Amino acid sequence: MAQHPLPSLLPQTGLTRHRRLREQGSLRRADLDAILDAGFVCHLGVVVDGRPLVVPTVYGRDEGRLYLHGSVASRSLAGGAPVCVTVTHVDGLVLARSVFDHGVNYRSAIIHGTARKVTDPDEKLAGLRRLTEHATPGQWSYARRPDRKELAATTLLALSLEEASVKIRAGAPDDGDGPDAGSGVWAGTLPLTATWGVPEPDPLLAPGILPPEHIARRAGTRHG
Ligand SMILES: Cc1cc2nc3c(=O)[nH]c(=O)nc-3n(C[C@H](O)[C@H](O)[C@H](O)COP(=O)(O)OP(=O)(O)OC[C@H]3O[C@@H](n4cnc5c(N)ncnc54)[C@H](O)[C@@H]3O)c2cc1C
Repeated sequence: MAQHPLPSLLPQTGLTRHRRLREQGSLRRADLDAILDAGFVCHLGVVVDGRPLVVPTVYGRDEGRLYLHGSVASRSLAGGAPVCVTVTHVDGLVLARSVFDHGVNYRSAIIHGTARKVTDPDEKLAGLRRLTEHATPGQWSYARRPDRKELAATTLLALSLEEASVKIRAGAPDDGDGPDAGSGVWAGTLPLTATWGVPEPDPLLAPGILPPEHIARRAGTRHG
């Protein structure tokens, strides 16, 4: 489905307007794109049978849409209803002099919208390709692609990236110039990073099959 490029500033709507901790908000779509590209797991929030359900799931994206997939039996992937998708990266603990001022350094994005079930076979395959390549670039053309039966068993949802918000916190605690500054308590940040490990072969793998370059080269690189 054709789409127009989205504006470089995120819209401020009744849903996306930051109310609390507004100084951490960013309206730059480039920040949204960077947060989405730095991860591949999101939390999909949806109301099922009148109750909220928040499901961790993988995602992919193109310029204007987020793609989510799963079993056709999944109740969280019904589509056609309002959803909220959150992507979070934790960059460290913010340890202040007072417990009240403790916090987290993070980058997070929330996307609001109504997810659409993708039914066109070509669009579905293209969306699943985006999803696969988002987590593991190079894998779509390496592993076997889904056949007709597997495609029929899979739901793909597309969610516009139009109505989204971003928050980012970075840096030192906030109480360095307050009454607690002279307390003698250590304050600062404890950074948190994730690193890809060395590929571990499936015990059932036939001898002599080595990990392809696009997987092997990620060992030791930073995620997020
Ligand atoms: C890892 C992590 C830990 C956090 N811990 C705490 C905590 O312990 N206590 C606390 O008060 N806050 C915490 N926050 C911040 C929290 O996510 C909210 O931003 C904050 O609590 C304000 O919530 P609210 O419902 O008042 O938001 P409002 O400002 O009322 O939300 C309005 C709109 O702003 C947008 N928005 C709000 N929060 C975010 C966000 N984080 N990312 C992107 N868009 C957002 C959404 O579109 C939302 O609909 C944490 C954030 C992260 C990522």
